[in-house]
Amino acid sequence: MENVVVIRYGEIALKGLNKRYFEDKLVSQIHNAISDLGKLRVYKAHSRIYVDIDNHNVNDITERVKKVFGIVSLSVAKRFEVDMDKIREVALQELKDRMEENSNIKTFKVESKRADKRFPLKSLEISRDVGGYLLENTDNISVDVHNPDIVINVEVRDKAFVFSNKIKGFGGLPLGTNGKALLLLSGGIDSPVAGWLVGKRGVEIEAIHFHSYPFTSDRAKEKVLDLAKILSIYCGKFKLYSINLLPIQKEINEKCPEQEMTILSRRFMMQIAEKVGVENNCDALITGESIGQVASQTVKSLYVTNASVDMPVFRPLIAMDKVDIMALAEKIGTYETSILPFEDCCTVFLPKHPVTQPKLDRIMKSEDALDVERLIDEAIENMEVEKITLED
Ligand code: ATP
Ligand code: MG
Repeated sequence: MENVVVIRYGEIALKGLNKRYFEDKLVSQIHNAISDLGKLRVYKAHSRIYVDIDNHNVNDITERVKKVFGIVSLSVAKRFEVDMDKIREVALQELKDRMEENSNIKTFKVESKRADKRFPLKSLEISRDVGGYLLENTDNISVDVHNPDIVINVEVRDKAFVFSNKIKGFGGLPLGTNGKALLLLSGGIDSPVAGWLVGKRGVEIEAIHFHSYPFTSDRAKEKVLDLAKILSIYCGKFKLYSINLLPIQKEINEKCPEQEMTILSRRFMMQIAEKVGVENNCDALITGESIGQVASQTVKSLYVTNASVDMPVFRPLIAMDKVDIMALAEKIGTYETSILPFEDCCTVFLPKHPVTQPKLDRIMKSEDALDVERLIDEAIENMEVEKITLED
């Protein structure tokens, strides 16, 4: 009998001829996620993926695997040759083990699946048989088919499987199945979540950050690095480009109307990001913008910001409320870092009364006072690049 992690994937199973490609990607992503734990066999069979646990720590494996995009759920199962006596015995041991771990377990239910139709008992018959056996051989526990404290699962396939847990994955598609996009990563709550959501659709990401050093501190920069590292748990290794926006902000401050500072900086950020993106094989930009959240995110402001670039801009948070974005940030583990109180480049020259209903022609006129192309090129010439990996 072996201990295995059973990994289920939903959506990729629907991809017709591409199915194999998606499955192979998922296998290699799972492999990457656990490779530092030692030699572990990851393989697919019958529309599922398995990891042999051998003598490794189960929790170390499941903690990592459940964060791999494309996985719907996973279970830690016992696998053995199909045999009814053996199924009863393993199911009983499983129930006893769980009861020993948790004394609150007072009711159970057996759920069965018969994938191998040659097996003489139907699913319901297996459940009834095993359920009866468990009742006979345990004390202080009863059957509750509607709301059981624990479900013992039995599956009859090429082999028999018994398990009692189901850990939810994030769903989505395996990373690397859908091109690459460049995330505008601030130190705030929203942009890491935006990057995560797009990554979840299989898109590889890189990130670009704008700072106003020395007006913004090294600690603000550290914070962005930390956020990038958290993202890399899900999105793998990626590059973080850092741009000093200060020379541009100074020019705007000198030559343009004060209330247009934010929207003009935003247009510069987008254009710089687009140029860096094109040079690095990215086909879209990602931002954490959400309608109406701040002055620079009214629909009119979004229009003016968007008009600065040709590349598609993905805004996965566009219609989400802040509380829901915050909840997601907590779930993926970026929230605590995002709320650390370090200044952002945008706050350095924050106008007292920013425009909330900018007009594109008016804004473009203001830009006529600036040598936009030179400013963009100089900013990119001074760009720093950092490789983000989990290890450091
Ligand atoms: P966030 O929480 O992501 O900082 P926010 O609510 O503070 O968002 P804004 O500051 O208006 O909103 O920024 C909107 C989006 O513009 C951000 O989600 C991010 O994608 C991008 N952005 C803003 N500031 C920066 C920055 N300093 N570096 C990189 N991208 C930025
Ligand atoms: Mg911000």
